[in-house]
Amino acid sequence: MNEDIKKYTEYCLNCLVKPCSNKGCPLNNDIPTFIKLVKEENVEEAYKVLSKTTVLGSICGRICPHMKQCEGSCVRGIKGEPVQIGEIEAFVFDEALKNKWYKNIEKTSEMQGMKVAVVGSGPAGLTCASFLSRSGAEVTIYEKYDKLGGILRHGIPDFRLEKDILDKTIESILDIGIKVEYNKELGININLEDLEKEYDAIFLGFGANIPSKMNIEGEELEGVYGGNSLLETGNHPSYNGKKIAVIGGGNVAMDCARTIKRLGAEKVYVIYRRAEKQMPAERKEIEEAKNEGIEFLFQNNIVKILGNKRVERIECIRTQLVKKEGETREVPINIDGSNYEMNIDYVIMAVGSNPEKELVEKQGLKLNKWGNIEVNENKQTSKEKIYAGGDLVGDKGTVAWAARAGRDAAEAMLRNWGRTPFAQNK
Ligand code: SF4
Repeated sequence: MNEDIKKYTEYCLNCLVKPCSNKGCPLNNDIPTFIKLVKEENVEEAYKVLSKTTVLGSICGRICPHMKQCEGSCVRGIKGEPVQIGEIEAFVFDEALKNKWYKNIEKTSEMQGMKVAVVGSGPAGLTCASFLSRSGAEVTIYEKYDKLGGILRHGIPDFRLEKDILDKTIESILDIGIKVEYNKELGININLEDLEKEYDAIFLGFGANIPSKMNIEGEELEGVYGGNSLLETGNHPSYNGKKIAVIGGGNVAMDCARTIKRLGAEKVYVIYRRAEKQMPAERKEIEEAKNEGIEFLFQNNIVKILGNKRVERIECIRTQLVKKEGETREVPINIDGSNYEMNIDYVIMAVGSNPEKELVEKQGLKLNKWGNIEVNENKQTSKEKIYAGGDLVGDKGTVAWAARAGRDAAEAMLRNWGRTPFAQNK
């Protein structure tokens, strides 16, 4: 084991109350226990502990916003640096992938005889498929591309997640015997009516690909792109010598800004209407983006996109943060008369996304008032046999939260069939 990992494990206090697990980790990974086992050099046992709650450790250990999750709740962080939980988790799972320890994870029989279809293979779909399969269900994943991974493959740039890690993680998940149907897209060559006839349950985890609109003037001009679709398709225009404005403050905004800068843009601005400390993106990502030369315009809001057919300029306004009754955090208010214009060639909207309304409604599912698929507390949609989770239903937008949604749906299926859900650390 390398010296750094050893040092990180020795720094953990092994707290009985486990705030890192119970408050911080969306998957409730048993962090103190697995760290203790790594400290004792029992890495395979540490992997077994983590495997009760996650199958994406090599990925989450690298790309989770740890300071907003586990490390942000670590007791060590009160007076100093938190324990490097992410690095230890990635180490454990990398060892498991290298040594193929996943072959030793026990399969149970609670769901024997059940057939489940999983549509989409991002973090929610992969996790749901894995937990169902481990419980004995016969699982088939339907994926619209010729490779699995969903947003992990098409939405997260290589500089944040190497595809080799993703490929090995997927190999470890499929190893248990999950079937895959590639190049199968809902509404194009599969539909829910047919799947309902063939399967006992269906989990939908195909993500939300339609960029949300800000409904401002000029949004229809040439040169305005949705952040998610740009990352998913990789169909970038030539940015050489161009000025780009990325609107939004989450990880999609950061991934777009950093990708575009690497593709040769002269200037990339991230425009965010709130303060830096309110940005949903991980601190590390913001710092790295700044180091790469990306300029942040905090407390600025875009109000118009201007140009003749295509983007030429944008109009922005400065904002101030005010406390409002009933709001948990300060809200940004435009400052009258503070408008200004900037010359810009491309505008990237990274302010959220929704599932395709027409597709969802054609499949007979209900949408909620935010445009996401409506689900109950069991992740069940308006059709009893169909479950959904992740971006599709508006779950919190991190990989770990999507994985949690997939695991919760698998658990709900077990409960609904009167079987005991798999053992977990709760
Ligand atoms: Fe270790 Fe920090 Fe969790 Fe305490 S809160 S058990 S120090 S990782």
